[in-house]
Amino acid sequence: MVEFMVKIWYISIIRARHCGWSGLAKGDPNEKPIVISIRMTMYDEGRVGRRATKGFTLIELLVVIAIIAVLLAIIMPAMRKVRETAKETICKSNLKNVGLGLLMYLDDNDRKLPNYRSANGFLWYDAGGNLLTLNDGSAYWGIVYKPYLKETKIFGCPSLRRVPSLIYNVDPDAVQEAAFALNYHQDARGKSTTDLRPSEFIFCHDHMEPRVENNEQDMFHNNDTPGAMNLVHYRQGGSRSKHYRDIWRHNIRANDAFRTGGRANILWLDAHVTALEETTGDDVRKRWYTGKRN
Ligand SMILES: [Zn+2]
Repeated sequence: MVEFMVKIWYISIIRARHCGWSGLAKGDPNEKPIVISIRMTMYDEGRVGRRATKGFTLIELLVVIAIIAVLLAIIMPAMRKVRETAKETICKSNLKNVGLGLLMYLDDNDRKLPNYRSANGFLWYDAGGNLLTLNDGSAYWGIVYKPYLKETKIFGCPSLRRVPSLIYNVDPDAVQEAAFALNYHQDARGKSTTDLRPSEFIFCHDHMEPRVENNEQDMFHNNDTPGAMNLVHYRQGGSRSKHYRDIWRHNIRANDAFRTGGRANILWLDAHVTALEETTGDDVRKRWYTGKRN
C-alpha cells in the first residue's frame, strides 16, 4: 500500500478565535487549533475500500486543472512577447557589434569599404575548416570583419527560425550565423565612406539574402515610387514568398499572411542600429541604399 498524507495545519493565523467563529473566549482551555487534513490514499489491487478516506474527487481535480489552464492562457502571450523582445534586443546587440568591427576595419583601411568580390553565400569555412576568401561565391561577406570580431555568432539573429528550405542550396544551420544581408546596391559599390552620409546609409540588415542587390526586389525601398511595393518577389505570389516572414522576423503577428506587423533591424554605416517596421517601401528612401546624398 502506498499512502500519501498531506496535513495542513492552521495553528495560530487562521484560528477560529481570531475570526470570532468558535464562540470560545480568547485563551479558553477548550480551544483547539483547527486542523484541515487532506489524505490521498492509493490501495493495492484487492484492498480497495478497506478504509474510509477523504480524497479529491475527479470534479475537484478537473476544476483545479481548468483554473491552471486559464491562468496559463493569460500568462503565455505575455511571456511570448517578453521572449521575442529579448530576441530582438540580442539581434540589435549583435548588429551593434558588427558595426564596431566595421568601424575598426574602416579605421585600418582609409575609410574605404571593401570590395566583396564574389562572396555571396552563407558560409564561413570550407570543408577543411579554412576561412573562405572573398573570391569564393559561397563565402559570407562577414569574413572581411572576422579579424575584428572573432565570433561568427555575432552575425546571427535569434528570431531567424531554423529555415527548412533556403533560397540557395546550403545547410540550413549555416544561415544561423549569416543572418544579415549586406547592402550591395550597384550605385554604392566601391564608394568611399567619405562620399556617403554614414548615418543615412544602410550597411546591412535582417534578411534572407546574404547580400541584397536587386533594387526593390530585395531591398526595403520601392524605387521612391509611392504606392509601389518593395520586396516584390518575397511578397504574396512572388517566387520567394515563403521567406517573407523571415525578413520582417521580429514582432511577428501570426494569421496575417502578408501584413505581419513585423520588424527588421538595420545597421547603418555609422554603427547605429534601428528597427524598421514592416513597410511597403514608401517610407524607405532609395538613397539609403545607393549612398546618394539626396
Ligand atoms: Zn534580427
